[in-house]
Amino acid sequence: MTTPQHDNYINGQWVAGDKYSPNVNPSNTADVLGLYTQASAEQLDQAVQAARAAFPAWSVSGIQARADALDKIGNEILARREELGTLLAREEGKTRPEGIGEAARAGNIFKFFAGECLRLAGETLASVRPGIGIEVTREPLGVIGLITPWNFPIAIPAWKVAPALAYGNCVVLKPADLVPGCAWALADIISRSGIPAGVFNLVMGRGSVVGDALVNHAGIDAISFTGSQSVGGRIAQQCAANLKKVQLEMGGKNPQVVLDDADLGQAVELCVQSAFFSTGQRCTASSRLIVTEGIYPKFIEAMQARMAALKVGDALQAGIDIGPVSSQSQLAQDADYVSIGQQEGGTLLMGGERLSRDADGFYMAPALFTDTTMDMRINREEVFGPVASIIRVKDYEAALAVANDTPFGLSAGIATTSLKYATHFKRHSQAGMVMVNLPTAGVDYHVPFGGRKGSSYGPREQGRYAQEFFTTVKTAYTLA
Ligand code: NAP
Repeated sequence: MTTPQHDNYINGQWVAGDKYSPNVNPSNTADVLGLYTQASAEQLDQAVQAARAAFPAWSVSGIQARADALDKIGNEILARREELGTLLAREEGKTRPEGIGEAARAGNIFKFFAGECLRLAGETLASVRPGIGIEVTREPLGVIGLITPWNFPIAIPAWKVAPALAYGNCVVLKPADLVPGCAWALADIISRSGIPAGVFNLVMGRGSVVGDALVNHAGIDAISFTGSQSVGGRIAQQCAANLKKVQLEMGGKNPQVVLDDADLGQAVELCVQSAFFSTGQRCTASSRLIVTEGIYPKFIEAMQARMAALKVGDALQAGIDIGPVSSQSQLAQDADYVSIGQQEGGTLLMGGERLSRDADGFYMAPALFTDTTMDMRINREEVFGPVASIIRVKDYEAALAVANDTPFGLSAGIATTSLKYATHFKRHSQAGMVMVNLPTAGVDYHVPFGGRKGSSYGPREQGRYAQEFFTTVKTAYTLA
């Protein structure tokens, strides 16, 4: 049987690129999902030109037509959530239930923004000069480059494409090279939605080539990026040099505080979920478990028991809690950090070793460190794998100080039965999202998403707050 080939989607056509790369299943490296093309420089240019040509009509198109198209896309994703979730689990390594959940989220995002097409509002104000009226309206930005990471292969493309199109922009999407399958499936669904040629374009390929060319293309008005801090920082500089609007969602080193008065069972469950589910490969994963000393011995014991019961295996196998690491290079990075943690003086309580399963995949036992301090690299740098450390502290005040002692600020959680501490933490956590008795990862699709400090730059994504980035404001004065 020949391996299926997947092309770029440019100006309403499927177009073969220069060459093809295999999309490999991280649970079983003998399983190749398909061959995915790499866009050439000319194709990237064609995609941008097609989007520019489509923009004048699309930017003033009827909001009912836009809403209908987005709703249709959302409906198809939801109807095919099991199939798309399976594809996602096969290409990225999330468990199949997690993959189906992510696909459903993508579908719901499109349906939410179908509604947003109809809800975009402006305001009218009186002028300080008599006889003049003022209208403040929001208009589309133009042609937007969307660059997405590998860890949410369908949800993140969805949460950028849907608002961009809803508010009348045209887009060129460059998904992560590791996981082009879900973005290609999304493009296939969009191609049948009635959206005019050129409004949505997909260019696959490497970030250093296609991504870089997209950021620097003169026909691109703005960039919405999700990925690492190192790449994001560079993109911000390039956009600033060319006066392009930019939005960056980047990494995290998210704290999960556990206080003496926490419900122990609940605290352990949410720590295990936050730190290790989705193989710890979520920007909102908590990798620093900050535990006060009264509950510390019981917490360690309960964590060990819970972690011992976790099943690591093939993402498509029923009953698996944690799939493989996404790639060989990510596995090597995770293993490096386990060594670094040990060299720095942390105690590796359990896990951290490579696991073998029936098929050849990138399996790793979730790793938990104790006896760690905030000067250690494992507590300052994003590992982006199933590696977490426990930091023992005296009391709530010390826990809050440690939680905020990080260059990142995406998500932060607290496990407590105290209203006083929960309220104080919500107010004083230096993170964009705060969770009380909930995992740091796992958010709704209709409310803003994003962080502070080194985790985010520019306006928030998702919910109606998405309009801050995906529209530009006009103030019009009329003499009556
Ligand atoms: P990454 O290496 O920064 O890549 C992100 C995207 O940028 C990919 O499409 C990549 O293409 C592209 N890229 C790489 N170099 C580029 C360049 N020079 N110019 C333009 N584009 C370039 O991140 P990742 O490893 O895919 O994803 C993991 C990171 O994403 C973690 O740090 C995680 O915390 C973060 N993340 C953040 C959020 C959030 O909302 N805050 C959500 C999810 C993930 P290639 O794939 O071809 O390299």
